[in-house]
Amino acid sequence: MTKQIAIIGGGPAGLMAAEVLSAAGHTVTVYEAMPTFGRKFLLAGKSGLNITHSEEFERFAVRFGAASARLRPALDAFTPEDVRRWAEGLGTETFVGTSGRVFPVVMKASPLLRSWLRRLEAQDVTLRTRHRWIGFAEGGYRFETPEGVLTLHPDAALLALGGASWPRLGSDAAWVPWLREMGITVNELQPANCGFDVDWSDPFRQRFEGLPVKSVSTTSAAGTLQGEFVISKHGIEGSLVYAHAAALRGRLKHEGHADLPIDLALGRSVERLERDLARQDAKASFSNRLRKGAGLEGVKAALVRELVPHANQASPKELAILIKALPIPVLRPRPIAEAISSAGGLDWNELDANYMMKAVPGLFAAGEMLDWEAPTGGYLLTACFSTGRAAAKGIENWLRVK
Ligand SMILES: Cc1cc2nc3c(=O)[nH]c(=O)nc-3n(C[C@H](O)[C@H](O)[C@H](O)COP(=O)(O)OP(=O)(O)OC[C@H]3O[C@@H](n4cnc5c(N)ncnc54)[C@H](O)[C@@H]3O)c2cc1C
Repeated sequence: MTKQIAIIGGGPAGLMAAEVLSAAGHTVTVYEAMPTFGRKFLLAGKSGLNITHSEEFERFAVRFGAASARLRPALDAFTPEDVRRWAEGLGTETFVGTSGRVFPVVMKASPLLRSWLRRLEAQDVTLRTRHRWIGFAEGGYRFETPEGVLTLHPDAALLALGGASWPRLGSDAAWVPWLREMGITVNELQPANCGFDVDWSDPFRQRFEGLPVKSVSTTSAAGTLQGEFVISKHGIEGSLVYAHAAALRGRLKHEGHADLPIDLALGRSVERLERDLARQDAKASFSNRLRKGAGLEGVKAALVRELVPHANQASPKELAILIKALPIPVLRPRPIAEAISSAGGLDWNELDANYMMKAVPGLFAAGEMLDWEAPTGGYLLTACFSTGRAAAKGIENWLRVK
């Protein structure tokens, strides 16, 4: 017998669940608060839409930190290879970039989203925009709609409401208190894959805001990672910073302060750098010693001066040590509204193996609103697709035995 299923939230996780459930013959309606679907997905497309990652699956599957084990069955059932095949099935061919990240050849999301929505309609999914879920009422789900307030009583419902980053695209985390009122644990939503504030001097900020710092490595509990980051108005941002966000957040929380050490002279040991710096004429200007002895100029040399005002008086050995691990003192993460994604969310202990909330039989959850985080690199979308599918399968399992 077909059942009525309400998918609440029309991002990647919700749409994926709608696809699976409608293909199984259920009557599916997707309720989306915004005037259009998948706004964050489309924004992700602006930077190329890194849809998944091509690294070896065993490495891929542990990028989700403490949540990796919980996510594993969903990732096993819909792997990065499956994501690529699925996109190709919607007419979006993908390629592996130099870093192993996977992108659509067209480097955007809109053609994929268009043909995905067409396919959902062809599978008889009802797509409702401007339908905002506003909480529980009368044993059902209350919505604000252009026709007024409605209360729905579907056979099963899936929340796929996203995290709390970029709230103006729809995922505004308004659901957090509604679930908490039901006694459901929702861990604090925090910025992930975010920039950090640094107390730059005005002259440094004015001169270097927006400039990349290329070919460096940075170190934290996340490991030593190579790449580039950007000097921003407020501090530092970019993929090399985002990769350390969880580690920096942890240190800020537990120790009250955190430094991100950068190696500005990749490929040269401290000893070699010390020798190269010691060879410089002691009477030469500091800029010349940095340039000729360590190959540092522009923003890299300015970072040394900015962060260690007396660096010009340092011995070659002290300077070499600084250049190989120049500590950037970060003050706090940028606000969650600016982050790429959020950490925290619905506690895994609240869900059974079907992605159903133990406290509310018939209510399921998927996507970024669950408590997991991952670096950028296509991991976020893959986990949203995978959990959307897993929750859809969970709904099917539950409806079968209900
Ligand atoms: C700038 C940027 C770039 C990104 N780039 C990438 C990338 O390249 N690769 C990658 O893997 N990830 C990327 N991400 C992250 C990725 O887009 C998200 O992780 C993903 O969209 C989350 O999917 P979701 O379905 O869980 O939630 P969302 O995409 O946030 O969708 C949730 C939906 O629920 C709706 N909703 C919320 N509340 C209600 C309500 N009360 N009633 C009805 N509807 C509601 C929202 O309007 C929204 O449409 C990027 C994110 C940003 C901000």
